[in-house]
Amino acid sequence: MQIQLEIGAKANLILNKLENAGFEAYVVGGFVRDALLGELTSQTDIDITTSASTDQIKQIFSDYKTIDTGIRFGTVTVVLDHVAFEVTTYRIDGPYLDGRRPSKVLFTDRLEEDLKRRDFTINAMAYHPNKGLIDPFNGQKDLDKELIRAVGKADRRLEEDRLRMLRAVRFAAKLNFSIEDTLFQAIKTQASQITTVSVERIAAELNKILLMDKPSSGIVLLKETGLLKHIIPDLAKGAGFLQYSKHHAYDVFDHTMVALDQTARDLELRLAILFHDVGKIYTRFIGEDGEGHFYGHDKLSKEIAEKTLTHLRYDKKTIKHVGDLVGRHMAAMNPYTEKSVKRLIRKMGQEQVKKLFYLQIADILATNNPHFRENVDRGLALLEEIEANESVVFRNQLAINGHDIMALGYKEGKQIGLILKKVTSLVCDGDLENDKESIIEYIKGAEI
Ligand code: ATP
Ligand code: MG
Repeated sequence: MQIQLEIGAKANLILNKLENAGFEAYVVGGFVRDALLGELTSQTDIDITTSASTDQIKQIFSDYKTIDTGIRFGTVTVVLDHVAFEVTTYRIDGPYLDGRRPSKVLFTDRLEEDLKRRDFTINAMAYHPNKGLIDPFNGQKDLDKELIRAVGKADRRLEEDRLRMLRAVRFAAKLNFSIEDTLFQAIKTQASQITTVSVERIAAELNKILLMDKPSSGIVLLKETGLLKHIIPDLAKGAGFLQYSKHHAYDVFDHTMVALDQTARDLELRLAILFHDVGKIYTRFIGEDGEGHFYGHDKLSKEIAEKTLTHLRYDKKTIKHVGDLVGRHMAAMNPYTEKSVKRLIRKMGQEQVKKLFYLQIADILATNNPHFRENVDRGLALLEEIEANESVVFRNQLAINGHDIMALGYKEGKQIGLILKKVTSLVCDGDLENDKESIIEYIKGAEI
């Protein structure tokens, strides 16, 4: 019996229009894979492959909005009722000279040639409502066997594009599949070559792994394939690194993985967990009682996080937020008070403080020392209260500004900043009224 997949009215319309103009057209790749798995895929990420050229595609859809997404690679985006479809001409990838991208692409009129260039068997299936499933590499069988298998020879396919190593890990972790043996071996052999791939492509895959339901399964697989030590070397070094602590049943890497799965699906938070203890491997000190201590590991972890994320070209905001979270993850050692939480809010902003507390909870859950949990819960409760009362005062909400202070005879410069900082913290903590008169009186009397 022929397989029937629900591709939706819009995709059907695209296929029909291409066929009415005399071309072949199929739904292909990720949508077919996920639909066969019975996943409720959104019908907004459907790729279509066709024998029509980009000029012909644009001509056929001249009444619709089209975008020249990648004309050189045969891709035109067709927009139907605000939904975008990537329509790509059947293509054969030319020789890969640098292991990164084809030096050129050739177009073909044979569907099978197009499927052959795709990475894994489960990604190399096409579907047409009347013709059924086109599956020359037995992708459906591999779906049943839960295997990620390369189309063709694994080592050659990885040599063409080393990013496929990360894609294999991502799909295996996401689908809870195994990586077929020869592919797994080829990844292990070529793992060090991952550094020839652009850092942007690597980071994009890492992010997708981190945002999965169970991110640890992807990171563990990165370690097992040998890829991790070429992407985040300091994280890989935590494997087997013992903590000699009664609070820790796990080595640094395993502790990090357990904590990672305890965090909400938020990229900054998960990146922060990934890096929070990387500095431990450089700071271990074993006391006379045999207990391990890691003085200053938080600051070092922060430095390593910032350096690694900068190298991977994350945006400035992400690097700053993750660095702050990592650098402050040990703050739960001191009891949270209204004053200290307000101070954190002024430094980091409410949203980041919340993430800090979540980070600390995940960290605590991955140890056998629940001691600080109560403290972090108190911090969260205080945060909620402060949020509800809107009782934090930021510098720009003060009843005075720098000009008012200059009018008191202070010269423009650093001192004004110091005064504003001090006044903000007093007002915020409820020790000074936020009105101009009281503040000026305070400044006059204080020696700042
Ligand atoms: P998802 O979008 O859920 O991550 P997907 O399979 O749709 O999965 P895309 O990156 O959107 O993945 O790529 C679409 C299709 O293009 C894939 O299914 C695969 O057939 C092909 N493809 C993508 N990247 C590569 C690559 N690096 N090498 C070979 N084929 C690839
Ligand atoms: Mg896709």
